[in-house]
Amino acid sequence: MPQLMILGAGVAGTACAHTLSNAGITLEVVEKSRGTGGRTAGKRFEGGVFDQGARYFTIKDPTFAKYIQAQMAQGTVKPWHISFGSYHPNQGWQALQDQPTRYVACPQMNNLAKSLLGNITTHYQHKIIRAVYNSSSWHLYSDHGQVWQAKQVVCTLPYTQTKELFGSYLSNPTELSKAGVNTPTWVVAFTTSHQLSLPFHAGFIHSSILNWFAYENSKPQRSNQQHTYVLHASAAYSQANVDTPAAEVKKTLIDAFATLTEQTIHPTQDFTHRWLYADLIEGQSLGELYYPEVGLGLCGDWLLGGRVEGAYLSGVQLAQKILRDYTSSSLIHNEESTHGNS
Ligand SMILES: Cc1cc2nc3c(=O)[nH]c(=O)nc-3n(C[C@H](O)[C@H](O)[C@H](O)COP(=O)(O)OP(=O)(O)OC[C@H]3O[C@@H](n4cnc5c(N)ncnc54)[C@H](O)[C@@H]3O)c2cc1C
Repeated sequence: MPQLMILGAGVAGTACAHTLSNAGITLEVVEKSRGTGGRTAGKRFEGGVFDQGARYFTIKDPTFAKYIQAQMAQGTVKPWHISFGSYHPNQGWQALQDQPTRYVACPQMNNLAKSLLGNITTHYQHKIIRAVYNSSSWHLYSDHGQVWQAKQVVCTLPYTQTKELFGSYLSNPTELSKAGVNTPTWVVAFTTSHQLSLPFHAGFIHSSILNWFAYENSKPQRSNQQHTYVLHASAAYSQANVDTPAAEVKKTLIDAFATLTEQTIHPTQDFTHRWLYADLIEGQSLGELYYPEVGLGLCGDWLLGGRVEGAYLSGVQLAQKILRDYTSSSLIHNEESTHGNS
């Protein structure tokens, strides 16, 4: 039995796993999907790849900066130096000035989480559907009938899913919703045989339908054979069309982009994905939550700003809290055994 099980191999889960494992804690990760990275996942298709979730990340915090510097030295993270713009219905297209440096993991965004995970044992394609705490250990039940037992559990799922699984063990489940709730985002990607004529390589769109576009080939180390573009729907459109058929969403987004850029678009391939828990309506920054009385820790972007950097820091901070708890309880054990021996 591992000391600890981590639910979710996104950035928060892998950052937590990396920090705990480096400190000698035995742990395993269980992940519902086929791969690592969670909302930094990419999508491979014939002739290329695109980032289906997080587009890039920025850096503010020195701890995150230090980790990213090490990754840059290994070539797994690179700055994305391109022309960024924005579109406002009243002002048209404008270049964005004085922008923070944007970084991408290479060859796909999920490589950040992959590097953090290293060779830590991970059980993919197991969705945890039930979690039960019995006096001193957890039992985690997967949708494939597997059960894992561990003394401690770290949950890195977005708020709504965390509450579903662990709500009855949390002393303050309703309070937690103030930390931030993730809302849906529709993402459409398409390829073309000729490069589109665009004012910028990527940018923010302030329209009722779209809020982002990117020419994926402009990211470092993407060697797509065809010109690949990604569009994100606005929060308002995504929320209002959460149950709209994917084919209809795809057509609406591509048509809106064609109108904005004043050209006809003939996709050679296209992909549509709905993220149910994407953008964060930001709330209180709780950082992470630790309930030592039931051996449960919570981390994830929803507790710290809703971005890649926040997810990383939340995972590291929870790991540090758990390690401090281990150190102090082993001191207590040592003191007890010393007294017992005397
Ligand atoms: C479309 C989109 C665009 C974005 N753009 C940016 C951006 O440009 N810059 C930026 O910084 N951030 C961006 N983000 C946000 C960023 O991706 C997230 O903040 C970050 O990846 C969250 O990491 P996490 O580990 O907290 O959560 P997640 O990545 O959601 O990790 C949770 C993991 O748990 C797994 N899981 C869920 N339920 C279960 C279960 N029951 N059992 C087992 N495993 C389970 C999931 O599969 C997932 O791998 C974007 C997100 C989206 C969706």
